Amino acid sequence: MVTFRDAGIVLRTHKLAEADRIITLLTRDHGKVRAVAKGVRRPKSRFGGRLEPFMYADLQFYEGRSLDTVTQAVTLAAYGGPITASYPAFTAANAVAEVADKLSPVEHVPARLLFRLTVGAVAALARSVAPPDPEGNAPTPGPGSVADSYLLRALALAGYAPALTDCARCGAQGPHRAFSPAAGGVVCQRCRPPGSAAPTGATVALLGALLEGDWPAVAAAPPQAAAESAGLARSFAEFHLERAIGSLRLMDR
Ligand SMILES: [Zn+2]
Repeated sequence: MVTFRDAGIVLRTHKLAEADRIITLLTRDHGKVRAVAKGVRRPKSRFGGRLEPFMYADLQFYEGRSLDTVTQAVTLAAYGGPITASYPAFTAANAVAEVADKLSPVEHVPARLLFRLTVGAVAALARSVAPPDPEGNAPTPGPGSVADSYLLRALALAGYAPALTDCARCGAQGPHRAFSPAAGGVVCQRCRPPGSAAPTGATVALLGALLEGDWPAVAAAPPQAAAESAGLARSFAEFHLERAIGSLRLMDR
């Protein structure tokens, strides 16, 4: 029996048979792993809540022909509890999980970096809904900002970072006032495709802060820029995620 051990974060779970679940995990060394957790839905399961969505655990598996099986799970961080207790954090975490799932395994996405980025985003989501730390004054970004930042950074790992200063098409020196997801970010007056957005300078600066994970700058952004940047980050991600995944579909054929 071939066994292996790895750290992994639970992206989602599916019911299987009467008491079992299929757990989809993003692991540090084995990329995405789908594994059966036997008896996990029984009230007295030895896994307890350790294989619920967004739990981070040290896991032991044995390899199966089509699916592996989880034999042991030790919690490394219980992010699942606070995240599933908050609707905004839960929806943000599901968006993170969906993107992580889709980008893994995409050939040109560095798996270890995607793993680190994903665990970091889930940890930040758990923190975003925790009671404020009376000692620390570090700004805690809201769940939506964490998810938008993750989208932009995951896309950057896949080779689709948005252009935010110089024109995405011709490279003309910025700043520019038009933004087009399809063109790849900000565009100059000559390159601007019809229907481009015209975000404020504060919105473009906020997109940069989200891409960098610069939380003090994210926290200081005006609310209008926050709403506008969220819309642009999401339409940018939607457009380019399809392209990033498209390369996987071609690979599969
Ligand atoms: Zn241009």
